[in-house]
Amino acid sequence: MVNLKMFIDGEWKDAENQQTRLVYNPANGEIIAHAPEGTITDARAAIDAARKAFESGVWSGISAQERASYLLKIADKIDAYAEELTQLETMDNGKPLREAGFDVADAAACFRYYSGLITKPDGQTYHVADPMQAMVVREPVGVCGLIVPWNYPLLMSVWKIAPALAAGNTIVFKPSEVTPVTPKKLFEIFEEVGLPKGVANMVMGAGAVVGNEIASHPEVDMISFTGGTKTGKQIMKTAADTMKKVSLELGGKSPNIIFADADFETAVDYALFGIYAGSGQVCSAGSRILVEESLYDQFVARFVERARKIKVGPGNDPSTEMGPIVSAEHLEKILYYIELGKQEGATVACGGNRIVADGLEKGYFVEPTVFVNVEQKMRIVQEEIFGPVVVIQKFKDEEEAIKLANGTIYGLAGGVFTKDGAKGLRVIKKLRAGITWLNSYHPTYNEAPWGGYKQSGIGRSLGTFGLEEFQEIKQININLQVEPVGWFSN
Ligand code: NAD
Repeated sequence: MVNLKMFIDGEWKDAENQQTRLVYNPANGEIIAHAPEGTITDARAAIDAARKAFESGVWSGISAQERASYLLKIADKIDAYAEELTQLETMDNGKPLREAGFDVADAAACFRYYSGLITKPDGQTYHVADPMQAMVVREPVGVCGLIVPWNYPLLMSVWKIAPALAAGNTIVFKPSEVTPVTPKKLFEIFEEVGLPKGVANMVMGAGAVVGNEIASHPEVDMISFTGGTKTGKQIMKTAADTMKKVSLELGGKSPNIIFADADFETAVDYALFGIYAGSGQVCSAGSRILVEESLYDQFVARFVERARKIKVGPGNDPSTEMGPIVSAEHLEKILYYIELGKQEGATVACGGNRIVADGLEKGYFVEPTVFVNVEQKMRIVQEEIFGPVVVIQKFKDEEEAIKLANGTIYGLAGGVFTKDGAKGLRVIKKLRAGITWLNSYHPTYNEAPWGGYKQSGIGRSLGTFGLEEFQEIKQININLQVEPVGWFSN
């Protein structure tokens, strides 16, 4: 059990009123940490520190090459602490060590990617009327408020922090109150590499208090938020008062479309991975599987057969294939949706229960669950459950597949399985979603933009787009012939 602290202006701090919040291991319900329950005063201190650091130029004023060298050092430290970070992530979030290990490696790679990108050419020049020379430069936005969820405590943090720092911003970061352990280790790394004080600040605490202060404070220039769509809407409204730049990575209910001509075992395999990786607590989870009529029964039978065999257990057991749900509260939400599905008239084809046997009773475990006999209007089809619960629907033809796939408020991700490449691409082009895969599901790359259409968000993380989110664009026009314009006659 550890006492966590916040990191404000280069110092480790308790909440100003000394209040703390308990953090639990989702695999067994044990208390693993006391986290400071930050207040509005704490958030303001962090914002103040970030503002002063930004204005001083200690970060925005140094060369891109110098900032890149810090980012590379951070990446090296993440690699050096990979084993510890992996263990912490599994304890904090519950995910199996194998998944946590991928996240840690990806986090280091993300810092490396942005350390490279920031030193590459940017800006533009334009041929405009003589004697003017026009150019465009990119500048940091200023103080960026970064607010993240609990499903990838380390990686979601890094997806924001790496490009924000690369671009020369200073940051006020808030981890999820459910998973502050790995983010705290990340900030220890920032201290170790000697980031100038005030450049990276971390406050912990409730979203409605600390998060809301970050979203509303006039000295915060931008909010980059990852989390639920409902929270994202609230943040957008709050941020509107001070016209902050807003970047939102929100929820999803992503379709995975399986045509009858797909490679059968590949499609089943990826469909399982699409929903049960991360116990379904993945924004891009393939939580709606749409299967062509003629393949439907065969697909459901094979999918259920394999879903039943998934080994559910504590993340730190190397044989575990699917870990627990992140918290007791979220477990309740998932069980509520399973009951709702039954009430709506859908059929549970497998799973549907909390797992309380085999020493898992103190943790928050749910069986891999499949609903069939579902209708598009059901809430279990329309709403993000964010757990190991999938609905398998039937479609007649390409047109119906697209209609069903696009038939929710979300538009984050989608997969298509077929051996007919032209059909696959045709369908993908019709999907109203920002992230798509053909004959695959889930792979994510630091080089490629991540984000959603519709109510799945605004803006993109990762790639060049993810850097641009954290930059302002300035037009500079230079008069090469310095003489009066002569517009007025007097
Ligand atoms: P959440 O919206 O409840 O919380 C996310 C963060 O926002 C937390 O740090 C929370 O404290 C903070 N917050 C809550 N209320 C706030 C407020 N009023 N003002 C400011 N901050 C506030 O989400 P969650 O339950 O932690 O995470 C799950 C959600 O995240 C899912 O909907 C999932 O789809 C989404 N998600 C999206 C992506 C993506 O890339 N699109 C990635 C990961 C997770």
